[in-house]
Amino acid sequence: MATRSLFLLPGDGIGPEAMAEVRKIIAHMNDKEAAGFSTDEGLVGGCAYDAHGQAISDADMDKAMAADAVLFGAVGGPKWDAVPYEVRPEAGLLRLRKDMELFANLRPAICYPALANSSSLKQDVIEGLDILIVRELTGGVYFGEPKEIIDLGNGQKRGIDTQVYDTYEIDRISAVAFELARTRRNEVCSMEKRNVMKSGVLWNEVVTATHKERFSDVKLSHMLADAGGMQLVRWPKQFDVIVTDNLFGDMLSDIAAMLTGSLGMLPSASLGAPDAKTGKRKALYEPVHGSAPDIAGQGIANPIAMIASFAMCLRYSFNMVAEADRLEAAIAAVLDKGLRTGDIMSDGCQKITTAEMGDAILAAYAG
Ligand code: NAD
Repeated sequence: MATRSLFLLPGDGIGPEAMAEVRKIIAHMNDKEAAGFSTDEGLVGGCAYDAHGQAISDADMDKAMAADAVLFGAVGGPKWDAVPYEVRPEAGLLRLRKDMELFANLRPAICYPALANSSSLKQDVIEGLDILIVRELTGGVYFGEPKEIIDLGNGQKRGIDTQVYDTYEIDRISAVAFELARTRRNEVCSMEKRNVMKSGVLWNEVVTATHKERFSDVKLSHMLADAGGMQLVRWPKQFDVIVTDNLFGDMLSDIAAMLTGSLGMLPSASLGAPDAKTGKRKALYEPVHGSAPDIAGQGIANPIAMIASFAMCLRYSFNMVAEADRLEAAIAAVLDKGLRTGDIMSDGCQKITTAEMGDAILAAYAG
């Protein structure tokens, strides 16, 4: 009997192409490992707008809320550039994040050995890198009020954004970081700007208190966010888990991600609070890349970011740690063999299609 519900939202552009490769892995796990996944599928983004005039329908939203986990492909494309702002493709993703209250964004930066020489950094700086950025996703300066441009009446205008964090928001995001650190190397580095921002002073205080009260077994350090950016490119391997706010996390996670290569390689997860009854967190897993309209429909997109997002889903939503490890090892093994999609192609390697990459990873996983 199915016990694990997945809601698939492939979306637009290369989203469906990448999702097709994950579907093969799910089918294999159900057939050969009795994984018991039940899957349902909906529309999000431009395709949902074409079908319903909305970036995600209420019915699909209900399914996303009810599922154990949502797998999301990508949305958007030139076809929908002129649709009204409220129903633009990205509005579907924003509604999912908002209604599911996904406040914790997890972005791993892992350097696969086979790709270490394609980083812009020196190989020894990057080889073996495995860090996780935990970014607060629903608060801070992107949402704080007042948020406006006012006319000062003297030919000048003033743009205002407000950085605001409450204790509970800092406590819950740092708790996620500490919990994840316990499953890794048990170290958290918290980054803020307490030297110039009051919200940074509070951030530092609350993270320190949460650590002392509930997570004193985890090693905690603090770093100013600008110094953190510098250290990320100087010696990124010094970090295990980094926890930071929405704005700094946006930038630091992009820096960390690009240490390791192509957009087509980068997975992410967004988690909500644990349910009071079941302890399960609402969760959405998605590649970092967009719908790549320039290559959509050609069967050449790299499905690894989507497959690695599914590996995160196995790990964080279903506690299927062994399967997640095996799937990540399968990705590494296929890259070791020199198989590459166009975006990560290098001399001496073999260029393959999206479906061939998915098949090779599944074959390596199945052993
Ligand atoms: P993009 O990530 O779609 O593409 C950027 C470049 O990277 C392109 O050259 C693309 O071909 C390449 N690329 C991306 N993913 C790849 C993959 N898996 N394999 C091989 N190459 C890959 O970003 P963009 O071009 O700025 O945006 C295109 C559309 O996607 C826009 O409509 C944008 O709004 C949307 N977008 C959506 C999301 C999302 O769904 N979360 C994120 C970013 C952008």
